[in-house]
Amino acid sequence: MFSIHALFIAGVSYLLLLFGAAYLTEQGKLPRRLVRHPLVHALSLGIYTSVWTYYGIFGIVQDAGITYLTSYLGATLAFVLAPAIMVPILRIARTHQLSSLADLFSFRFRSGPVGTLTSLLVVAATLPLIAIQIQAVADSLYLLNNDAPRDLIAATFCAVMALFAILFGARHASLRNRNNGLVVAMAVESLVKLVALLTIAGYALFSIFGGPSGLEQWLTDNPAALQRIQHIPENENWNTLLLAFFATTIVMPHMFHLAFTENSSALSLQKASWLMPLYLFLMAITVPIIVWAGIKLEATNVTEYLVLNIGVVLDSRTLTLLAFLGGLSAASGVIIVATVSMASMLQNHLLLPITRVPDNVRFYNWLLWLRRILILVLMSASYLFYTLLARPETLYLLGLIAFISFLQFLPGLLATLFWAGINRWGFVLGLCTGTGCWLLTMLLPMLLDQNISVLDFDINTDDWHQSAVLSLLLNCVVLVVTSRLLPTGEEERKAADACMLNVMQQPMGIRLNATRVEDFEALLRPRFGAETAQRELQSAIAQLGINYEVLSPLDLLRLRTQLEQHLSGLVGPVEAATILEPLDRQDPIEGFRARDVHLLESQLEQYHQRLGGLAAELDELRRYHRLTLQKLPVGVCTLDSDGRILFWNAEIEHYTGLSVDDVLTWRPASLPSPWGELFTRFTEGDQSHLESQKLVVQGQPRWFSLHKAQLNEQKAHAGMVILLEDESDTLMLADKLAHNERLASIGRFAAGVAHEIGNPVTGIACLAQNLKFETESPLVLESGEQILDQTKRISRIVQSLVRFAHTGRQDHSTQHDPVDIYACITEAIQLVSLDTRGRHQRYQNDVPPALQVVGDMQQLLQIFVNLLNNACDASPEQGLISISAEREDEKVIIRMLDEGSGIPAELQDRLFEPFFTTKDPGKGTGLGLALVYNIIEEHYGNIEILSPANKKQNKGTLVVITLPGLPPSEL
Ligand code: ADP
Ligand code: MG
Repeated sequence: MFSIHALFIAGVSYLLLLFGAAYLTEQGKLPRRLVRHPLVHALSLGIYTSVWTYYGIFGIVQDAGITYLTSYLGATLAFVLAPAIMVPILRIARTHQLSSLADLFSFRFRSGPVGTLTSLLVVAATLPLIAIQIQAVADSLYLLNNDAPRDLIAATFCAVMALFAILFGARHASLRNRNNGLVVAMAVESLVKLVALLTIAGYALFSIFGGPSGLEQWLTDNPAALQRIQHIPENENWNTLLLAFFATTIVMPHMFHLAFTENSSALSLQKASWLMPLYLFLMAITVPIIVWAGIKLEATNVTEYLVLNIGVVLDSRTLTLLAFLGGLSAASGVIIVATVSMASMLQNHLLLPITRVPDNVRFYNWLLWLRRILILVLMSASYLFYTLLARPETLYLLGLIAFISFLQFLPGLLATLFWAGINRWGFVLGLCTGTGCWLLTMLLPMLLDQNISVLDFDINTDDWHQSAVLSLLLNCVVLVVTSRLLPTGEEERKAADACMLNVMQQPMGIRLNATRVEDFEALLRPRFGAETAQRELQSAIAQLGINYEVLSPLDLLRLRTQLEQHLSGLVGPVEAATILEPLDRQDPIEGFRARDVHLLESQLEQYHQRLGGLAAELDELRRYHRLTLQKLPVGVCTLDSDGRILFWNAEIEHYTGLSVDDVLTWRPASLPSPWGELFTRFTEGDQSHLESQKLVVQGQPRWFSLHKAQLNEQKAHAGMVILLEDESDTLMLADKLAHNERLASIGRFAAGVAHEIGNPVTGIACLAQNLKFETESPLVLESGEQILDQTKRISRIVQSLVRFAHTGRQDHSTQHDPVDIYACITEAIQLVSLDTRGRHQRYQNDVPPALQVVGDMQQLLQIFVNLLNNACDASPEQGLISISAEREDEKVIIRMLDEGSGIPAELQDRLFEPFFTTKDPGKGTGLGLALVYNIIEEHYGNIEILSPANKKQNKGTLVVITLPGLPPSEL
């Protein structure tokens, strides 16, 4: 029907299409959104439908009728359960960079031999599977052209497959990187298969039967045909088959590779959980239609290749070619991906543990070539297997045997996810027992019995079924019993937690022997060479976003974890762990430790989405409590049993200016001054309360009180919780109140004193005046005048004192009257000179006498008194303080210049803050300028303090006040 050339060209063009799809993807020619789309990835899982499903299924229908559905249902079950089984596996595989089933098991059981055993068994079970794919391609070609050189075709096909696997399946040394080309090519293949089957079934339905009603009519006329599909074998083989197909969907290397290794998000698995059942459903419904069409066309002489034969019998080149290409894609998908996956398995678990990287090679290249050579070796082995074993009639049997052998991994896999009690002994012994049983009861008879035929191992006989059930049962029993009897290592227990569902990975309770990045490098260099070691370290550090120069213990620990995961992607989990092992120091401390808690929490942060049920509720509760502590308006910190800081809430961060990341795992003594001393004194002391501790924080005095409590009263070193309360505001408020109170009483006294002084002074003034009438002596008269002058001065002083005392009136209303600045300043100077500090200065009032501003006389007086006081405080003895003023438009600008110390630039921003003072307690209140500021605000004025006023000598302060002057009309 077809010439060899035509078939060859068709096959090659199809494979070229695959190469093209993969190539375009890798070159970035296809839209990224398409390539990365979860649906594309989900579709690539259609690789499940190998030639077993594509061709072999018709053999099953022939033998066992409806049982054929198990192949679809088993897989459907696996995909529907994806969120419960596949997604958790994906999580483990992604987190720990596991690239195959062997990686998963060796990681879970912390054992290299487990990985080796798994790899060997998987390879042993997969080779027959690949052999039947090769055979199917060769057979189908042979069917189309009896002259085709079968073995040559098979060999060529294998070579092309190997080329594809090398080109697109082994692109990156590290398995961290996804081979997008491979995924897209597999998605294309899934589509081709589906389209081929649907087209043929559609053609059969509409052309051969004349539509659904025609088919119905034909079925009524031929009940035997219907019976053939509906027929249910009496034994219960289908249970076992269902289970076997369920297991293979997850465990087969090509499925594992596409579902987990080449997958970056759980989203695609979630999509696959409906897309794949749909896909399989569409595939499954084509089967009966094609079978019936075969019966009608009397094309059933070749059971397995019925799809192909329909086209042949109908003499339709298009249909035949389509069927052939569908078969080709079913075969090639499995072959390519399975070899890629097995190559990485053998690399990690067979070769790397026993080979040393030569010193003079580049590690990544070396690794890639290793994998490529393994692919070639595996492909050759498959070909050999095909030539030795495969005969047309054994296609189905070989497949079945392979599937049952995959079933042996199911107990171990499920236990990995759901039962933390399993240990490596249980796993290995269970697997060996199961596989041994399978070997003895299934494989050996087949290998020994040269005359074996499909009929001997017919699906209707119970032999294989019993053998499968027996081996699985033995596997499970041995697994459980051994795991219970033999001890589990600490390492293994931790790995178990890492794999369990809903159990979060315990942070490793280890300390590191490393303190610097160089320590890590020293470990990696001998194994990978300097360049690779550097690169791996850099990428791990970059991914963590930590600072290369300063690595805290926590960073080191994170770096170690990150590095282990990276290396696991490169050389497998066992190698990675072995390489990094010298880092771990085994001196665990009891109890919860600071970084553990921190790691735990940061992991919970990522994990939180995945929690459900009680765990989610508890996590909510934990968050609530944590938030409460975080937001408590009191500083809280806890120390662990080791005396290291474990918790540091937001308020204490605010008090101390130290962030939690900085202080975590520190001992209090390492905290910077003054906190270090305070905390050490307090934690080591007997007192559980310390009141009003004065600290100078950022140049400001603050008062704190501390409280502590032991976390466990019975045990002496169970850690403690410390509360830190900022009392500064309260204390200062109390101070301020007391001070105000004092001021108010001084005001009252002043009024009283003024009154009391008034009477005697009036008396003295009267007496002095009377002197005029008593004597003529000029000396006495002059003295009288002088006494009068002095009494007047006394009255003036007393009056201004009284006035000032009244400034702090309660009503706060500001009057707006014209105020004579000159007089105001004169009075202020007089008041200031009453004080000792003001007595020894020189004042110079240069204000023009007529200048007036609008304001409240008393309040303005207060301004000038405060400013003069400050100037006196800052000035040396006999310093000159000069005040000048001028009118500018509607404003009056008043300048007060002193020759004092000046104000340092860094303090100038804070001058107007209440309580900001540089003076000793009792001397300054820090309220002066604040008050000035407020008053000037109320007067719609402005104040500026410039210092140093004298730039040359770097001293002196100039205060510039702008106040509204009188409107021109009133001038
Ligand atoms: P107090 O005088 O009670 O300290 P103030 O609010 O009046 O409070 O002043 C705040 C601070 O501003 C003073 O402690 C001082 O350091 C600085 N200061 C104010 N005026 C001057 C000045 N003329 N020269 C130098 N320093 C000044
Ligand atoms: Mg002051």
